[in-house]
Amino acid sequence: MLRAGLIRRSAAGLYVWLPMGLRTLKKVEQIVREEMNRAGAFELCMPTIQPAELWIESGRWRKYGPELLRIKDRHDREFVYGPTHEEVITDIARRELRSYKQLPVNFYQIQSKFRDEIRPRFGVMRAREFLMKDAYSFHTDAASLAEGYRLMFDAYTRIFTRMGLKFRAVQADGGSIGGDTSQEFHVLADSGEDAIAISDADDYAANLETATSAASAAPRHGPVEPLTKVATPNVRTIAEVCALLGVEAARCVKTLLVDGSAGDVVALVIRGDHELNAVKSQKLDGIASPLRMASTERIRASTAAEPGSLGPLGFKGTIYVDRAAAHLADFVCGANDKDTHYRGVNWGRDLPEPRVVDIRIVQAGDPSPTGRGTIKIARGIEVGHIFQLGQLYSAAMNASVLDEEGKALTMHMGCYGIGVTRIVAAAIEQNHDANGIIWPQALAPFQVVLVPLNYQKSAQVQEIADALYRDFNAVGIDVLLDDRDARPGVKFADSELLGIPHRIVIGERSLKAGKLEYRHRRETESSEISAADPVGYIRDRLNS
Ligand code: ATP
Ligand code: MG
Repeated sequence: MLRAGLIRRSAAGLYVWLPMGLRTLKKVEQIVREEMNRAGAFELCMPTIQPAELWIESGRWRKYGPELLRIKDRHDREFVYGPTHEEVITDIARRELRSYKQLPVNFYQIQSKFRDEIRPRFGVMRAREFLMKDAYSFHTDAASLAEGYRLMFDAYTRIFTRMGLKFRAVQADGGSIGGDTSQEFHVLADSGEDAIAISDADDYAANLETATSAASAAPRHGPVEPLTKVATPNVRTIAEVCALLGVEAARCVKTLLVDGSAGDVVALVIRGDHELNAVKSQKLDGIASPLRMASTERIRASTAAEPGSLGPLGFKGTIYVDRAAAHLADFVCGANDKDTHYRGVNWGRDLPEPRVVDIRIVQAGDPSPTGRGTIKIARGIEVGHIFQLGQLYSAAMNASVLDEEGKALTMHMGCYGIGVTRIVAAAIEQNHDANGIIWPQALAPFQVVLVPLNYQKSAQVQEIADALYRDFNAVGIDVLLDDRDARPGVKFADSELLGIPHRIVIGERSLKAGKLEYRHRRETESSEISAADPVGYIRDRLNS
């Protein structure tokens, strides 16, 4: 984007949109606006600066971390630069909406947000100031909210389809906004920041943070080996234990001690070849959220063991066991004693039956939780997020309307975001080659670039190029005329870098034969087209 002159960096995470970039940004905005309007939402515009009082009321003044930019005015009154607008819209809704008859209703805006991201990176992909489309819906009950949510799901599907992007809707974790049901829309690209688990047989897709797999249906094997204690001097990792004892990692368990919510230590047990999922784990009863590994001091205080040889046997305190680890028989684990492990360990014989939970990260090849197909791990860029918030904000901020009996009814809310500026970068990540951008038609800053050869010297070339420029504009096709006094090679390279889909070269030699040279950005060879009706030719290609 920098090379193509779409944006310039002003400071960390702050960008200027140059004219060429802004054209694409406006196209993204327009598609979003049209589809939001089509779905029956109303556009409004809220201030970027918001009073602290509203954030104190919702409770987020305390909960939101340093990503929230807090500012003071000349009277020492506190404000925030909005990272999102639930508080402001809920305040408007509680003042403006009086009756259930006014519901459901959905308001949206396309506007700047500021988040003091800890690591702004990848340009406008993760900026500090960025454009978001944020929508908020208000309902009388959960069923109406579910219906409004479905309307937004459909609108998002149309938006990303119209943009010509390959995307997936994935199940997501509610994160700091909260709420129960939420899905993210991801543009698929190898460079994506997020790992998503996708079923190869149906449309199951989930953020790796929430993805799950089908549990083993077979019953657990009964114990065969006796419980034995073995010396494992200087062994700290699962790989070292496996090498020393000649067992596979899938026959060992890892025990991780994390902080409990009551100042205690809780043990999480997963299979040796699996990784712990922090988001799933921190939702369990009695575990501190966000998840924290217990400090060495706390571990020593509660087990007298070293971190390298922890195990569930003899651990006093809550133990949660992942489904796959709970399915093992005759397994290996640390003995809570320096340089020793147990082998031949069995649940129900050497240990009580475990408290079985799902706390591991799914892996490629796991069976899909839908029972169809296996999991693949793909990479995605989150470009949209829809949530059913329920009464989270309306209850905290007292946003109600009168119901049919004249009683106060706390509204149900949904919120729906789209990263407008991020979409521009995501579209490029998905559509480019070594020479530059390959814009999907709907997002291209211009549909056609006219490259006249010798524009400054040939009166004929200039006349035809200028006439074509007028003709394309007259029929409403966005056209760029490269009338710079530059070498053809420079113009060709720039048109490819910019990713304009259709290129027409105007040169004296082909004009003599009544021809123009045409090339689509995805093609490697040019072809000759008739100079008689290039507008008709392009119009056919645009419509095909
Ligand atoms: P992320 O996980 O990427 O930080 P988020 O969950 O914080 O995103 P939301 O609060 O749901 O994002 O915001 C709605 C949309 O705004 C996101 O889906 C994303 O497309 C976009 N967005 C969020 N943060 C940024 C950012 N720092 N820069 C650009 N776009 C962003
Ligand atoms: Mg974020």
